[in-house]
Amino acid sequence: MEEKVKGIVIGSADFKESDRLITLFTLEKGILNAILKGVKKPNSKLKFAKEIFCFGEFILTQKAGVKNGFYIIIGCDLVDNFFDLSQNFDKYFEGCKLLEIIKFVSKIGQQDVGLFIELLKALKTLTYENVARNLILCKFLLKIFEATGYKLNLNKCASCGSEFFGKRYFCMETGEICCVGCKTYNFLEILPQTHTNFRLISNTPYEKLSTLKLSIGECLDLLVLNFKIRFNNKFSITL
Ligand SMILES: [Zn+2]
Repeated sequence: MEEKVKGIVIGSADFKESDRLITLFTLEKGILNAILKGVKKPNSKLKFAKEIFCFGEFILTQKAGVKNGFYIIIGCDLVDNFFDLSQNFDKYFEGCKLLEIIKFVSKIGQQDVGLFIELLKALKTLTYENVARNLILCKFLLKIFEATGYKLNLNKCASCGSEFFGKRYFCMETGEICCVGCKTYNFLEILPQTHTNFRLISNTPYEKLSTLKLSIGECLDLLVLNFKIRFNNKFSITL
């Protein structure tokens, strides 16, 4: 039986003599593994579909005898290959970070429309807009936390719910931001400006990120550390 899915290639590895094993992040089924047969042969029509960042409508089939629930890709209508990413090493590396984060927070066969849309928006911004790369990563991580149920409290103390005045504190384990009265030993004081920057980045859509001129070093450091702690420090790529 054939089925169509919208997907982005987030991983691609050699498989047998002329095939590739593709990891697809799809709108309909979350992550799935699929084989692209004969794609290393010179006359293969689906060569473009083996590249990471390839976004398209994939036609899949699951033939009897194929183990581990792997799909076979039998067609692909390209929507965007984000070609410009491959022309700029820094942008390409930043794009790889986004794919690695998705691999980490998504599960095989589990649909997550929100995450899929976030990845597309972030890749488009990275490819086509003039926005600082670390700002896109910051925005993406904030959205990832939101999509996975760990939204940062940006307006009121996470513990007592009061408005912030004066000092505020960030908890690396939970990502909570608390007031001076609620902080415990594992909270770090953060600059009010850092807190404001979190709010600005969170409230600014991807298409308007280019209007933000912020120094976001501390924001990114906190989010990356928090991400690593949440996911047990198993994340290998340098964020
Ligand atoms: Zn409080």
